[in-house]
This record gives sequence, structure tokens and C-alpha cells, in this order.
Amino acid sequence: MTDYDLVIIGAGPAGLTAGLYAARARMNVLLLEKAVPGGQIIVTDWIENYPGFPEGISGYDLAEKMKKQAEDLGLEIDTAEVQSLNFTDETKEIILKDRTVKAKAVIIASGASPRKLGIGEDKYMGKGISFCATCDAPFFRDKTVVAIGGGDTAVQEAVFLTKFAKKVYLVHRRDELRAAKILQERAFANDKIEFVWDTVATGVDGFFGIEGVNVKNVKTNEASTIKADGCFIWVGILPSTEFVKGAVETDDGGFIIADAKMQTSVPGVFAAGDVRDTPLRQVSTAVGDGAIAAVSAEHYIENL
Ligand code: NAP
Repeated sequence: MTDYDLVIIGAGPAGLTAGLYAARARMNVLLLEKAVPGGQIIVTDWIENYPGFPEGISGYDLAEKMKKQAEDLGLEIDTAEVQSLNFTDETKEIILKDRTVKAKAVIIASGASPRKLGIGEDKYMGKGISFCATCDAPFFRDKTVVAIGGGDTAVQEAVFLTKFAKKVYLVHRRDELRAAKILQERAFANDKIEFVWDTVATGVDGFFGIEGVNVKNVKTNEASTIKADGCFIWVGILPSTEFVKGAVETDDGGFIIADAKMQTSVPGVFAAGDVRDTPLRQVSTAVGDGAIAAVSAEHYIENL
């Protein structure tokens, strides 16, 4: 006996889209989310590469729209953190703190979270170090901040920070950015941003808050301190797979391996979105993954 046809883990764009498709297919589906539905986009100030919104849309608003659309179709969303998974039998068990949910199929869409550098993130979190410009940029009005990273997130959010901060140092370990060219153009054109190339952060100075970020030039080995009131870290993401613990195959980085149908190494278990080993992590690709995963789960259940 199963409780549900399908359990989806994670309510980011991938999970919400899978939920939308499963609800439209009239599957008995439960979406589990440990925090607020929306995933990483709820802390993204502005999304302008998701088709259909030519002016762009705030990540929060897009997440709300996705959630409403799925719920209006009857999707049940429950706030619960998955502890572990048991996929040894055909019936899949999703173990929560207070109960175990049984399902015929599972979609893991638990996303990813920011990678830390180990420069005092835990000590200074909320006291000057942040991973979220949307949440914390207003605290740095007319102040100086350091942003670390060279990818889409660092470059996009550094530009956003200039709406508040008087100066943003963008510290990157190479002399070339990884970010999309359009984001680079905006950052290079912004005279509040100063690029600090070939440089890594080694620590932060401060007592109650941050007073400076210690850096080292990787070519010259020269160490120095950038005087700053805040430090935003955007050096990539790690998969949110603590609860997976070997239940499905992952790559060396812990991202879940799935095929073109989003099928993982376990029949009836699918992966979608940022948690998947994928060449591109965008809202549009997460949405596509979610749709494919839901249809694949439906076919899997029909053939049981
Ligand atoms: P990312 O693309 O993996 O970039 C991480 C950046 O951090 C890279 O520049 C990397 O340097 C640097 N880095 C990594 N480890 C470091 C370390 N230990 N010390 C110093 N620097 C380090 O991560 P992301 O920018 O968070 O983006 C994640 C995903 O979301 C990507 O797929 C991205 O395309 C997507 N995203 C898209 C948008 C958009 O389309 N507007 C916005 C945000 C995110 P190297 O370049 O030297 O490797």
C-alpha cells in the first residue's frame, strides 16, 4: 500500500513544475519542502532570462506565481524535511522526522545551496558576511562591500549591490569572468565596481562586524586587506543531497546522475533541476527537467 503515487522533494522551479504536471495528470501527488517554496530564486532580485517576462520578474514573484499555479490545480505542498530515503523495495519510502511516506515514484528536486569558502562564514553570518544580496544589500547603503566569485551569481549580484553600496570590490581568483557576457558588460560598465583579479579571500577582520577582507594575489602571493563593511560570497553551489546518502548514484560533486528522462540509477526515482548533474542551471532548464520528470514518473507508474 502506498500513500501517494508520487512524492516530489523540493519546491523550487523544478519541483513546482513537476507538481504542476503531476496534478494535471491527476496523480495522487505530494510535494515536500523543508523551507519556503521557491528555492534559490526567492533570493534572486531580478530574473530576466526566463521567457515570457520581457521586462524581467523578481525571483520571489516568479516563485509565488509557480506555486499558485500548481496549488490551483490541486497540488498538495507540505512543509517537512526529508531525513533519509529507502529505495530497496519497489515501494519507495521517504522518511520524515515524525512519519514515513510511501510512494510508487519519487522526484528529487532538492536543489543546491551556496558553497562556503571557510573564511568565517559561520561566525560572521548576519554580521557582515552574506550569500544573499536581495536580503542584505540594503544594510550596506553608502558602504563598501566585497563580492567574491566570477560566475553569473557573483557578477549579477555585484551589479545589484551597487544600487545600495557606494563601492563594490569584485574579487575573482582568475583574470577572466565565467559569467554570461551580458552580465559582464553591465559589470564592466558600472563605475562603482572595481575588479580585483587573480585574488582569493583568506579571511575577514572585525569584531562585532566586518572591517576588512584579507586577500592574497595568487600570482604574486602578495597579501593585503580590502577595507570593507560587508562581504558577499558567490563561489558556486553544492547539491542539497544530505538525505540521499547513497540511495541513488551521484557524481564526484554529489550531484545526482540522471538520463534524458530524468531517470536516476533506481527505477521509479527521478531527479530534476540544480540537484542533477547537468551542464546548465537556469530556471528554464529546471522547469524543463521538472516537466520531463513528472511525465516519466507517470509512465513508470502506468507500467508497474
Ligand atoms: P558558478 O557558475 O559555479 O561560478 C562560481 C564562481 O566562483 C566561479 O567564477 C569560480 O571561479 C569561483 N570559485 C569557485 N570556487 C572558488 C574558490 N574556492 N575560491 C574563489 N573562487 C571560487 O556558480 P554561480 O555563479 O553561483 O552559478 C551557479 C549556477 O546558477 C550556474 O549554472 C549559473 O549559470 C546559474 N545562474 C544563472 C544566472 C543567470 O542566468 N542570470 C544567475 C545566477 C546563477 P572560476 O571561474 O575560476 O572557476
